Amino acid sequence: MSFRATVLTLFPQMFPGHLGHSLAGRAIERGDVSIDAVQIRDFATDRHRSVDDTPAGGGAGMVLRADVLAAAIDHATPDDDPRPRLLLSPRGTPLTQKRVRQLSTGSGILLVCGRFEGVDQRVIDSRRLEEVSIGDYLLSGGEPAALVLLDAIIRLLPGVMGNAESGGEESFENGLLEYPHYTRPALFEDKPIPEILTSGDHQAVRRWRHEQSLALTRARRPDLLDRKP
Ligand code: SAH
Repeated sequence: MSFRATVLTLFPQMFPGHLGHSLAGRAIERGDVSIDAVQIRDFATDRHRSVDDTPAGGGAGMVLRADVLAAAIDHATPDDDPRPRLLLSPRGTPLTQKRVRQLSTGSGILLVCGRFEGVDQRVIDSRRLEEVSIGDYLLSGGEPAALVLLDAIIRLLPGVMGNAESGGEESFENGLLEYPHYTRPALFEDKPIPEILTSGDHQAVRRWRHEQSLALTRARRPDLLDRKP
């Protein structure tokens, strides 16, 4: 079964972007993933093909029109389309690895990329868009956020990452940040690799890594420890 992403955007040329390369690029080539970028402007109805207008109530900037965006959404997702509909938005629920994993088990996703000041609230309500944020900072448009979300999903799809094992231990997967990594050379600018990692004692290595994970998480992201079930 392939994962089908439809992205509504004013900049379809930004897709598949970096996802056309490396692991995701190969998944697209194999047909395991499709990313279909739909131009919102194609659904504009006036002579100037306008997609935005000034905010009701005044203020700076422009707002994406409800009618144009709704027409694009309705075209891209028939009523019986089971795919979740997400709007990339700084006001949304912060994206987590848990949500990414959930999304990766579905048949696909519809992503709406905002621009300008955002989109008319009525289309968010009527088309039941789930608002998702990729972090507490502002982007100028939803496209990079959509690429981030798709990247996170695609790497979890079956057959995309070579080493299936590297799933469970990675950052966030077990509620912790990952331990530090080392590789050759054995000596780098007078610094050796921590001895335990070259000791051959697998149990000791596992213990050391877990301790490192915990210490890092405590120091950098104590909020993750609070969140653990
Ligand atoms: N005026 C809005 C910001 C609009 S930014 C506000 O203050 O909330 C323009 C578009 O960029 C948004 O509609 C959204 O699609 C995207 N965007 C900006 N920051 C984002 C973030 N942190 N996560 C996801 N999308 C974001």
